[in-house]
Amino acid sequence: MESALLKRLDAILPAAPARDADAAGTHELPRRAMLLRAVAALPELPGEQPQGPSDPPEHRAAAAPHDPSSVHSAAARALRALAQAGLLSECVADAAAASGESGRPAPLSLRAMCLVRAALSYRSPLYDLMFVMQGLGSYAVALCGSAEQRRSYLPAVLQGDAVAALALTEPEAGSDLAGIRTRARPDGAGGYVIDGEKTFISNAGLATHYVLYARTDDHPKKGLTAFLLPAATPGVRTEPLALLCDDHPIGRVILEGVRLPESARIGQPGQGMTLALGTLEVFRPSVGAAAVGMARRALDETLVRVQARVQFGQPLAAFQATQLAVAEMATECEAAALLVAHAAALHDTGGPAMPASAMAKLFATEAAQRIIDRALQLHGGSGLIRGSVIERLYRDVRALRIYEGTSEIQKLVIARSLLTAKG
Ligand SMILES: Cc1cc2nc3c(=O)[nH]c(=O)nc-3n(C[C@H](O)[C@H](O)[C@H](O)COP(=O)(O)OP(=O)(O)OC[C@H]3O[C@@H](n4cnc5c(N)ncnc54)[C@H](O)[C@@H]3O)c2cc1C
Repeated sequence: MESALLKRLDAILPAAPARDADAAGTHELPRRAMLLRAVAALPELPGEQPQGPSDPPEHRAAAAPHDPSSVHSAAARALRALAQAGLLSECVADAAAASGESGRPAPLSLRAMCLVRAALSYRSPLYDLMFVMQGLGSYAVALCGSAEQRRSYLPAVLQGDAVAALALTEPEAGSDLAGIRTRARPDGAGGYVIDGEKTFISNAGLATHYVLYARTDDHPKKGLTAFLLPAATPGVRTEPLALLCDDHPIGRVILEGVRLPESARIGQPGQGMTLALGTLEVFRPSVGAAAVGMARRALDETLVRVQARVQFGQPLAAFQATQLAVAEMATECEAAALLVAHAAALHDTGGPAMPASAMAKLFATEAAQRIIDRALQLHGGSGLIRGSVIERLYRDVRALRIYEGTSEIQKLVIARSLLTAKG
């Protein structure tokens, strides 16, 4: 069973993308196999569907109805399993490896991170979410945190003892981070008092720490500063949000008179925008990898379904319309996988990561939505059964075109780099 799953996971992202023959060849292959084995061996989560498209969807158990406490306990289980499997080191830049107090963290291998995200998403988007949030909610600390922050926080994130979150978005500041209104005022004793509201914060209510962005100055871009905020600090309150992707722990974070010492600041005052954009930039292609994992799962489910389902005396797969559909789905999936692998390889080898990473995120998330929609169509009514693999993928994939920079913002990034290059 596990080896069949391993084969499917191995097919999601290519082992040796273009321009990357050396690193992806002799050096990376054993590591690749080790990472995929670790993903395949993760325990099944509550509500996760059996690994492998076998039973007809209507014969599978429906997932438990949405309930924030059961989502939180599944998320906590997922994080523990990821930590025990040693997978979190692929997205948490390790302070121990940093060169000196103000040294940069050991660079993350984006190829490894993408491989793990694609494989986790194939299994369960919740596994993927808990994996990547440990990275998103710690990268600024790895990059610019004090020696004490790196020493106390990063190992805890790596072990899954600290649950990380990134608190950037606000009701009035989504795509445009210059609109952030959360204020951090000097408290007169070297520290800060923070008031404001964050929304759409993954892991809100579950996180032990937030990397929080607040305004310390009126300058739209140079006035933002990052803080490491323990969730238990007095004045921090969370409220859950119920979204379409209902196994995603998410909510609002309300900050009222929150007092933080100066030592909670990450980097220098005014460095927030650079840190926020730097974090999103590194992780961007990995959203594409998650999309590819989901799309590949939908494709695999569909290939089994159309060969098993008989209508008009023949399997659906015998109809040419079905053949054209699966051929197009597979081609889009492959194209998305190659773009993601290419962007990750460029990042890892110091090549020009832009606009390749924006293209990878844009194309892979849009393609995954199309592929999963077609998968649902080919499943017919059974694709709509609550809790079935395709129905869950259909709901889970939608957010990927929105978070960490919407598709429209990716297009603006791509256009800017093209027009700058020509101008
Ligand atoms: C499931 C999920 C998880 C999330 N997790 C986190 C998290 O952990 N931490 C966090 O801080 N945030 C998180 N977010 C928030 C996410 O990053 C924002 O939703 C995203 O940046 C878009 O902002 P918005 O929703 O306010 O949309 P808006 O910025 O209001 O955009 C609305 C629409 O307008 C378009 N648009 C905006 N500006 C332009 C422009 N200049 N040109 C053309 N079109 C434009 C957008 O593309 C979009 O289609 C999450 C969101 C979701 C859905």
